[in-house]
Amino acid sequence: MTATARIALNRPLRRLFDYQIPDGCRIEPGQRVQIPFGRQFATGLVVDTNVTPPANIQLKPVNRALEPWPALPAETLKLLTWAADYYQHPLGESLFMALPPALRRGQPAALPKETFWQLSGREHSLPKQAHRQQALLDWLAGEGKPQATRDVLAAGFSRSQLKGLAEKGLVTECDPPAHTAPDSPSTPLPPLTEAQQQTFADLPPVDGKFHCTLLYGVTGSGKTELYLHYLQNNLTADDQALVLVPEINLTPQTVARFQRYFGDRIEVWHSALNDGQRLATWLRIREGKPVIVIGTRSAVLLPFIGLQTLIVDEEHDSSYKQGEGFRYSGRDLAVFRGHLNQCPVILGSATPSLESYANTQNGKYGLARLEQRVGSATAPEVRLLDIRSRPLEGGVSQPALSAIRRCLDSGQQALVFVNRRGYAPVMMCFDCGHLMECPDCDSRLTYHQRDRALRCHHCDYQQAAPTVCPSCQSEAFKPIGQGTERTEDTLTNLFPDVPVIRVDRDSTQRKGSIQSILERVNSGDPCILVGTQMLAKGHDFPKVTLVVVVNADGGLFSVDFRAPEQLIQTLLQVSGRAGRSRDPGTVLVQTCHSDHPLLNSLQQGRYLDIAQQLLTEREAAQLPPFRPMAIIRAEAPEMSESLAFLDQIRNTLTQDALEVWGPLPALIARKAKRHRAQLVVLCEQRGGIREALKAACQQAEQLRTSRDFRWQIDVDPQET
Ligand code: ADP
Ligand code: ZN
Ligand code: ZN
Repeated sequence: MTATARIALNRPLRRLFDYQIPDGCRIEPGQRVQIPFGRQFATGLVVDTNVTPPANIQLKPVNRALEPWPALPAETLKLLTWAADYYQHPLGESLFMALPPALRRGQPAALPKETFWQLSGREHSLPKQAHRQQALLDWLAGEGKPQATRDVLAAGFSRSQLKGLAEKGLVTECDPPAHTAPDSPSTPLPPLTEAQQQTFADLPPVDGKFHCTLLYGVTGSGKTELYLHYLQNNLTADDQALVLVPEINLTPQTVARFQRYFGDRIEVWHSALNDGQRLATWLRIREGKPVIVIGTRSAVLLPFIGLQTLIVDEEHDSSYKQGEGFRYSGRDLAVFRGHLNQCPVILGSATPSLESYANTQNGKYGLARLEQRVGSATAPEVRLLDIRSRPLEGGVSQPALSAIRRCLDSGQQALVFVNRRGYAPVMMCFDCGHLMECPDCDSRLTYHQRDRALRCHHCDYQQAAPTVCPSCQSEAFKPIGQGTERTEDTLTNLFPDVPVIRVDRDSTQRKGSIQSILERVNSGDPCILVGTQMLAKGHDFPKVTLVVVVNADGGLFSVDFRAPEQLIQTLLQVSGRAGRSRDPGTVLVQTCHSDHPLLNSLQQGRYLDIAQQLLTEREAAQLPPFRPMAIIRAEAPEMSESLAFLDQIRNTLTQDALEVWGPLPALIARKAKRHRAQLVVLCEQRGGIREALKAACQQAEQLRTSRDFRWQIDVDPQET
């Protein structure tokens, strides 16, 4: 009998393809192969080699293996196969997600050979006019190790300067410098405080078994310090480790801290890497080099072969969930990976997700708590400021403005949190009531004053901002509400003596801009930071002692069942930026609902008490994590088609254990000209929902739909 391979392709197909393995060719699961497909060749990934194809079919042979080893080692292959099934995503597309782009395209799994240059050490005196060549020599000497041609060019030198020096015998070609882990780190780790030591003892043992521990550590308590100690104590020289972070570019300090102790052992993985960097890093991991990877979500899919520890920092962060295509949760896959690999997993957060907290209560996870800030820093005091009948300037009330003034006068920095970018979320005519709406979505256009544009934050639509009402030509056509730009302008006028620094997606678009902003803030001079969510994420601003939340009410009355949890997390995370050093911090939360129980609990309670309260509500409503949830979404040029499609899917979801809501139009029913609807599915048990969803997906594939129709499934959705 001929050997057969079952192969997955990088296509949105819920099926696999069988091929014959030619005699003398050894192929194992996880390997990349080239196969004839239609009239072309395609790159495939072998899923299985022990298959019996239908007897009467003549299979085509595999053309060749692209390399003699599996690109996806066994554990990575298992992880992805499990994930594709769990998230109901086509296996082929899921598996290819774990390859760097070059390998998806079928290119060789090897780095192009690069020429490296070093100083020859020969004595020299260059003519005066050769000052660029001299500068190049000085630069090479300064770098202290061989440099690739690419780096020489990136540093602003030319090939001809390099050639000139080579001809004079002053530089020579050489081998690439070896990756070296420093034998002893350049800076020793600071000893753990007593509180940290106690918490450290509660972190999971490294004993060849799976343990998952939730590390609840208030902001500024030293979670990162604990991770560093944990890795230092537990990793051998051969081990690999993974540290997942929500976003790398926003918090370059975190990577720098790891690099200080682990040197070249640190590899970073995030979306801003180019294809060459991705391939190089991927290969080092696949070769089993003892790297510690600090990466965003997709780093959990890397082909580790000696993984000993997984850490997920800020585990509550919603950016761990991929929002399109293969909608996996990086955090949840990290836990599953630890399970597959029988190694410890630490989930760290000052505001743990309700899912993870519930898992500490049902015995699945351990809980380690660190409720003291480092040194003399104390938890910031949170005060609610009712603004119902107070005049506001740029959204900020008088008491908050006075507090900012006092903070600056005492040489400190203030942070003002506004949850929306742009100048104002609405433009309205005060004569006829006309509102500027997106022509393609059910949403208002945001006014961006810096470039006088109206933009939709839900699609790509934008237009120049009119100066008079387009409907009645009235000049009483004005922005309403607060965005970061407006607050920035108001504060610049009121506090002309200090810099006002805006941090949002618009002000940080240029590469490196966030770094220069952080440097300015960390210089320590008095300033006011104005910004969105971005400011809430993991930054260490020692001189910020005051945080003003311009408006906390957005999440109070949302229909999304996760909104209260997310509101509290965001408020506590922004609050956590205050008073991280010696001087105590104050947080002023402006609201029109100062009697709202959720906001009051924020003032009094510990996060875990609030989480407990929210969990009780979730349990009463039998919402996640008490029942698993999935959403099936449909979008089409007409709402009727979306609803009709979901109606048919609903008919297949008949099991007793299921509860199905809808189909109903989505919250923003029309987005980018498409009409969106959804079905929400809840189930008593996880196993039950998986089978039901699989059947629903098979049904969905069979249904006849118009060309413009799209559907998707979202298991454990972050947004409803
Ligand atoms: P978290 O991640 O919990 O917000 P960090 O690990 O960033 O906290 O620690 C907050 C600050 O305290 C950092 O500036 C860190 O360098 C400092 N720090 C933490 N632990 C110690 C320690 N044991 N000794 C000295 N400084 C520490
Ligand atoms: Zn008008
Ligand atoms: Zn729009």
